Amino acid sequence: MAQHTTVIKDTTVVTIDRDDTILYDAAVAIKDGRVASVGPSREIVARFPGAHAVDGSGKVVMPGFANIHTHFTLIIAKGIYEDLSPPHKPPFTSGLAPLPVPELSRDEMIAMVRLAALEAIRSGTTAALEDGSNVENYAQSIADTGLRLLLCEKAWDKAKGNIGDPGPFDVDAALGDECIARTEALHAKWHGACNGRITVGVSAWAPDMCSPDLLRKLRALQHKLDTVATIHLNQVWGEVSAVEKIRNRKPTEYLADIGFLNDRLICAHCRCMVREEERLLGEARTNVAFNACIAARRGLSPRVHDLQEFGCNIGMGSDNMAEDMVEVMRTGMFMERVRREDGRQPAPEQAMRWATVNGYRAMGIPDGGSLEAGKKADLIMIDFRRAHLVPRLRVVSTFVHQGQGRDVTDVMVDGAWLMREGKVLTMDEDATVAEAQRVSETAWGRLFAKRPDLKPIAGWQPMSAAAG
Ligand SMILES: [Zn+2]
Repeated sequence: MAQHTTVIKDTTVVTIDRDDTILYDAAVAIKDGRVASVGPSREIVARFPGAHAVDGSGKVVMPGFANIHTHFTLIIAKGIYEDLSPPHKPPFTSGLAPLPVPELSRDEMIAMVRLAALEAIRSGTTAALEDGSNVENYAQSIADTGLRLLLCEKAWDKAKGNIGDPGPFDVDAALGDECIARTEALHAKWHGACNGRITVGVSAWAPDMCSPDLLRKLRALQHKLDTVATIHLNQVWGEVSAVEKIRNRKPTEYLADIGFLNDRLICAHCRCMVREEERLLGEARTNVAFNACIAARRGLSPRVHDLQEFGCNIGMGSDNMAEDMVEVMRTGMFMERVRREDGRQPAPEQAMRWATVNGYRAMGIPDGGSLEAGKKADLIMIDFRRAHLVPRLRVVSTFVHQGQGRDVTDVMVDGAWLMREGKVLTMDEDATVAEAQRVSETAWGRLFAKRPDLKPIAGWQPMSAAAG
C-alpha cells in the first residue's frame, strides 16, 4: 500500500463512472490504496501539496481490467490448444482437446503462472479470478506479483472423464470431499490476505463433472464462507449432451433445480444454451464471464446482448492460453456485432464496462473498477503518443478498436505500482520469460517421450525428449 499521496497530473481520465465521464486536463490523487480525488489537474495539484507527482501528459488513465475467468497454468498450452477444439456435433469426445496438458511439478507450475501473471500485468489487468487445481502450490507466487486475485479451487466428483464426456457418471465422493477440503484450507489461509488484495471463492468445475450432492455442498460452502462462486456453464455442446443424458435436463436447468444460481455466481462461457436457460440466469442475476477470444477460437458465441437483457451482469475473461484483456475486449465487441449483424452495438463504451467495472462487481469488489473518489486505486496508464492511437479524439473508441496490450505503460493495484513507464517492478521479466520457455519445452518433451501414442500437431518445433 502506498505510504504517500500520488498525483497523476496533466492527463486524460476515463472514469467509467455511471455516466462514462471522461475528464481532460485532469488529475487523479491516490492515497492509502484508494482514489482520493479526481478532477481538474490544477485544482487537484493544489489540494495535495507535497504529493508525489507523476506526469500523465500524452497518456490516458483508466481503471485496470478485471479478468473474471482464467487458468494461469494453462498458459503452457499456448499455440497448441487454440486449434484443438472438440467437435460441436455428435459423436462427442471427452475433454476440450485431444492432447492432455503435461503434468507439472510444483516449480514448473510456478514458472508458468508467473509468466501468465507477467502477461496479465503487461496488458493492463489489475484483478483476476484464477480457477485452478492445487492453487495453494502457487498462490504465494502470484500474490507476490501484486495483482488483485480471487483464487478458486476447482471441485468435481465425476470419477473418470472430462467435460463433454459421453460416458456414464460414476461418483467419487472422496474426490469431491478432497476438493472441498482444499477450498476450505485455501480460504482459511488466503481470504483477506495482503490487506484484502487476495480473496478466495468456491469453484464447481462444470455441470457434467459434478453430482447434485456435490453442487449442494458447494452452494452451502459458498454461503458459509460468504463468498463468490464460479462454474463453467454451457461451454461446449458435448457438455450439454452429457447433462441431458444423465440429468434429463439442460445444464442451467440442472443448476437452477439445485439452487446453485445466485447473484454471486460467475458462470463462465454460457454459449451453448437455449432461451429458457438465458432467462433462468438473468432471473437469478448471475454474472456471466464472456470469454470472447476462446469463444471465437472455438467458433461458438454466447448471446451476450440477450443475457444482459434478461438481467445478467456481463464481465470478461481470457480463459486459457492468454491473459491479454485488451484483445479479449475488442474480440468481444467484434463478435457481438457480427452475431447481431449490427455495426454500432455494442458500443466501445459498453465493451469497456464489461472488461472493467462489471468484472470487479462480479468478483465481489463493488468499490473497484472505476476511477471515483473512495474507489480502490487499481488503474492503468496508456500511452496514446503512438501511430495507431493518433488522432486521439475519442479515446475510449480509439483504444477499444485500435489499442494493443503493449500500449499499457503503467499499472497500479491498491495504490502500488506493479509497472512503471514500461518496466514491470514486481518481477524479473527476462528471467520469467526464459524460465517459462524452458519449462514448456521440457514438460511437453517429457509427455511425448512417455506417451509415444501421442503426436505433436502440425507446425510444432523439433523437440528434445527431456530426461526425467
Ligand atoms: Zn475455463
